[in-house]
Amino acid sequence: MLVFVPAAGAQVQAPVRIGVLAFLGSEAAFSDWSPLARHLEAAVPSRRFVLEYYDVAGLREAVRQQKLDFVITNSGHYAALESEFGVSRIATLDSPGVPSPARAIGSAVIARADRNDLNVLADLKGRRVAAVGENAFGGFQVAWRELRRQGIEPQDFSRLDFLGFPMSRIVSAVADGKDDAGIVRACLLEEMARSGAIRLADFKVLSPRQEAGFACGLSTQLYPDWPIATLRHTDLRLAKAVAAALLSMPPNARGYAWTAPVDYRPVHDLFRDLQVGPYRYLRENTLQALAHRYWPFLLLVFAALAGWVMHTVRVEQQVHTRTAALRAALAERDAAEAGMRAHQEQLDHLSRLSVLGELSGTLAHELNQPLAAIGNYAQSLLRRLETGRYTPAILAEASQEIAAQAERAGGIVRRIRAFASKRAAVREKRPLLEVAHEATTLFAAMLPGAPRVVIDDRLPPDASVDADALQMQQVLLNLLKNAADAMQDRSSGERAIEVTLEQTERHYRIGVRDYGTGLSPTSASHLFEPFFTTKPDGMGLGLSICKTIVEAHGGRLWAEANTPAPGMIFFFTLPADVAIS
Ligand code: ADP
Repeated sequence: MLVFVPAAGAQVQAPVRIGVLAFLGSEAAFSDWSPLARHLEAAVPSRRFVLEYYDVAGLREAVRQQKLDFVITNSGHYAALESEFGVSRIATLDSPGVPSPARAIGSAVIARADRNDLNVLADLKGRRVAAVGENAFGGFQVAWRELRRQGIEPQDFSRLDFLGFPMSRIVSAVADGKDDAGIVRACLLEEMARSGAIRLADFKVLSPRQEAGFACGLSTQLYPDWPIATLRHTDLRLAKAVAAALLSMPPNARGYAWTAPVDYRPVHDLFRDLQVGPYRYLRENTLQALAHRYWPFLLLVFAALAGWVMHTVRVEQQVHTRTAALRAALAERDAAEAGMRAHQEQLDHLSRLSVLGELSGTLAHELNQPLAAIGNYAQSLLRRLETGRYTPAILAEASQEIAAQAERAGGIVRRIRAFASKRAAVREKRPLLEVAHEATTLFAAMLPGAPRVVIDDRLPPDASVDADALQMQQVLLNLLKNAADAMQDRSSGERAIEVTLEQTERHYRIGVRDYGTGLSPTSASHLFEPFFTTKPDGMGLGLSICKTIVEAHGGRLWAEANTPAPGMIFFFTLPADVAIS
């Protein structure tokens, strides 16, 4: 580790330079600070101390150029240098005759004692007022703040004369009547009276204030006393030695000493109130001034805004991706449903074709009847034409019969085609009894020697269902056909099918009962499975398709063993009160 120990006396050190604000005129509290320099030299023998006197502007410039090590100035100027150059107080003057170093400086607004019209600051409206200068602390600004508190601004004066230093000029202007009132440092009048320059009784202080421990006439609050401050570059050890020397300095002959530095915030508050000095920017109501003043807040707002924008963008993105995913899932579902529908329609179709196939013998027979009749009529007509035994009435009757039979054959073909056609489901409101009748008629027409079908209608008169009539027919036809198959071995007398139509609480229930073979329990458990069949030529699709159709209509299909045996009864339900969607 390297330690530099400067050899004592080997090096001639530059003198310590103390910049002092020079009082201009007789009102100076100190006109000579040289005892201070001597005291410091005694306390810090290694250094020489030099005092340099400046006016306000000169002192500021010397601080700016870092020509000084210390600066002694009034509290107003100190606050300005602190804000601008970061000078830092190490001690505050401790003056006699003031309540404390923190409350030492004030202003007196004076008028001639004989001015009965001037008693309080508010009386200055429309008057001529004298002061030191715009930037004078005790000679203007301190009183300005007090005036503002009482609702008066310098513009309300009829005239404001800045007379500069010495401050005694203001007292003279008031005494001579050139101005109605004047702003001076508190205690100036008392000092001038002591020196015999004026008579205290010739003057009065407007809005006088009583401050315990403050001996002079006063119109304002009190502010901190003068400080001594270091500059940014001042050597810390030197600053410490000077501070120690100042604090240990005994009061001089006039009672002045130094004490620990006090709080100069009241001075800053004054500047801020008046928007002068370091707070002049507050007056500029420009964007820049606002930015200067509120930049931390603006930064926060900006950060919040940026955060909000980012959040919004993220949420938007998420919504976008999720919507896309949802849309894809929906499309997939729609495609699957469409596929299923197509499948179902195909199965439907297949099942109808299968019933048709099983009934095709009957169909041929059905068609044969009208065709044979047509043939008969045509031949009989031909014979009559050959033999000449015909009258117009006979011709007309035969032609009408031929047309009627052709219409009947066409009707059969249409019905079969309609039944066998491939189509999408169409629902409409139809009386349930009518649907049942249609199915039984078709069944009887298709199957020669079909068992008798008895409809037991227990429905209320207006019972109708919102259903696809063709699909309902398909279900009933399937159940009737299965019933007929199950009774094949029965003698024709025993073969009967009962169709019951009734209303339960919320449904219509349709029952198809046969007296056939019935079912073993194992078969019963597979009844509605696709491709379950016990018939050599069966497809095993009928019941599973019926079940799908009934459930699509909001109903249920099930089978029970007939009691008493033999036979089965198949039930299915359809909603009675709610429309089927
Ligand atoms: P398929 O008639 O082509 O066999 P279904 O799905 O209509 O197809 O019927 C499946 C099976 O259910 C039939 O093979 C038969 O064994 C049985 N079944 C259906 N209805 C009855 C019934 N009423 N009585 C006894 N068994 C029946």
